[in-house]
Amino acid sequence: MNHNSSAEGRMLPILPAEAETLPATSGVWLSSALPGPIPKERIATCQSCAMVKGAPENDTQSHGGQHAFRADLKCCTFSPMLSNFQVGAILADSSAISQHARQVVRDRIARRVGVSPLGITPLPGYSALYDLASSRVFGRSPDLRCEYYTSEILGGGCSIWNHRNSVCATWFCKHNRGKRGRDFWNAVRLFLHDAEESMALLCATRLGVGPQVLTALDERRDFRSTIAAQLDAPVASRGYAERWGEWVGREEEFFDQAWQVQSRTGYEDLLSAGGVRLSARLTDMNAAYQALLHNTIPRRIVTDGLSFRVVQTDIARIATYSPYDPLDVPKVLVDVLPFFAGGDIDDVRAHILADAGVELDDTILQKLLDYGILREVDEPRRASHE
Ligand code: SF4
Repeated sequence: MNHNSSAEGRMLPILPAEAETLPATSGVWLSSALPGPIPKERIATCQSCAMVKGAPENDTQSHGGQHAFRADLKCCTFSPMLSNFQVGAILADSSAISQHARQVVRDRIARRVGVSPLGITPLPGYSALYDLASSRVFGRSPDLRCEYYTSEILGGGCSIWNHRNSVCATWFCKHNRGKRGRDFWNAVRLFLHDAEESMALLCATRLGVGPQVLTALDERRDFRSTIAAQLDAPVASRGYAERWGEWVGREEEFFDQAWQVQSRTGYEDLLSAGGVRLSARLTDMNAAYQALLHNTIPRRIVTDGLSFRVVQTDIARIATYSPYDPLDVPKVLVDVLPFFAGGDIDDVRAHILADAGVELDDTILQKLLDYGILREVDEPRRASHE
């Protein structure tokens, strides 16, 4: 137990030997935006899904008390918004893996459904269904399966993996550092979302699509108006040609050109296109990155009341910042958590040792802090299952 290092920020000894694999474009942006590589999320194993392991395919309840995903869906019960340059990248990708995605994109363009100079939105109605149902059936309802998910890939998977958007690139069911990891990836998502939107606007305007593209942006931000417009009249007759201008009928060519514009546009131009808003996202993301790479044991710590259940004789499963990422700990640890009532950390540790015979080292404390089971006195309370 090293009390002297408590309360001082220090670099974690786990420098990222293996960096997270990101889509090509966002990987380039983040290598300019962050001072170093992002450590790989090792326990969110997409190839062999950690949320499916051991669960019967159609189990709609739980496995081992955890929320389980179906093996033929995993976390792909979400459908992404694709920006124009990402659509162009998909069409230009001749790999076998993206064949399914190319078909989906070409079909959408042919039917003119959810297609604008800014990119391709989820199908009409999908976003409304997702908003209503995903918190209950995420990972379990085939009705929410992503249109880019394909069973043609071994084990089922994403046909746009190298071109996936900000949401898909940053969502993990579990994080090496619990809530701290989730907070970091949320900051990355917000940065990438604004970067993608700024780049899509830049591509559209450089390709001569005028102010009408802003109407498409409004619709992209408000899926209700998109649904209403598409239910109300055939999309082809609803301002479609007006929105596309000289590119109508040549949408594939437009998306290809957008991909090329993006490829030629440097990081500094992206920042300038994103303006003050993107710069603020960049600052937040860098702060979250520093927090991810550092350990800090605060001097005064509290716990907000626990929800747990005993899963083996001596093991308790504690509810944490996420229903997908509970923490299994020795039961004796649960018994000593009420000692954390805001007193000086050295005194608290001494009391726990004297009264319960338990020695808490920095590693255990850091884990409980990372998962939001303990928090610094001044830190806001965590909402359960945010
Ligand atoms: S785009 Fe790919 S990663 Fe994202 S939900 Fe669809 S299949 Fe899954």
